[in-house]
Amino acid sequence: MNILLPKPPFVFNNGAAVVEGNLLYIYRPVDFRELMYALTNAIYNEGKTCYYCGADITEKQRTMDHKYPVDFGGPTITNNLVPTCKKCNTTKGNLMEDEFKKFMAIGNAEEAKAFRVGIERGHRKIHTGKVKVIPEEWICPKDYPINEIEMRMQITVPLGRGYEHVSKRFAKYGKVLKPVIISTNKKLLDGFNVCLFAKVHNQWDRVNIIKLDNVIVMY
Ligand SMILES: [Zn+2]
Repeated sequence: MNILLPKPPFVFNNGAAVVEGNLLYIYRPVDFRELMYALTNAIYNEGKTCYYCGADITEKQRTMDHKYPVDFGGPTITNNLVPTCKKCNTTKGNLMEDEFKKFMAIGNAEEAKAFRVGIERGHRKIHTGKVKVIPEEWICPKDYPINEIEMRMQITVPLGRGYEHVSKRFAKYGKVLKPVIISTNKKLLDGFNVCLFAKVHNQWDRVNIIKLDNVIVMY
């Protein structure tokens, strides 16, 4: 899949990442989340207005919303991010973008509350993998050659909290919701702990891989 990119010029951390044409080149190791946030702000009017309510927001007031919530496997990529005010982000919680828009359109508080309860009941099926959340076209086919993904980071023992989180989620729901994100040249961008978990427990078939075809790692 291709991620949304702002029009050039876009230069991140003194040239660590640069948008050229319709491609994003990453020249040096970067905090992937920070890079995606910066790209998202560049796409949406420098992050000056809330995507949901349209209010003006300063840098201090700005938060970043995952349209498909992180808890349901929503990836931290520009296609899934929007700048929002704190109020909208907090109120949205774990609603999807379309659910939140419907919720906002309900004028009556009681009705809105009931709507939310119904939605959240439906969400329980997401954790068990019975309901798919992120668009199918974002995800690589299940036969993707995972052995070719280049994980450059050192594997250290003991494993960190991120790894524990993945393990706990897996023990509870039998599924890893957080996806692994790689560049078009198969370098790991996000989801190191998920990779590690899948490798150790041989659970690759339960992991979603998202390949960003317009992102190239150059180092
Ligand atoms: Zn707002």
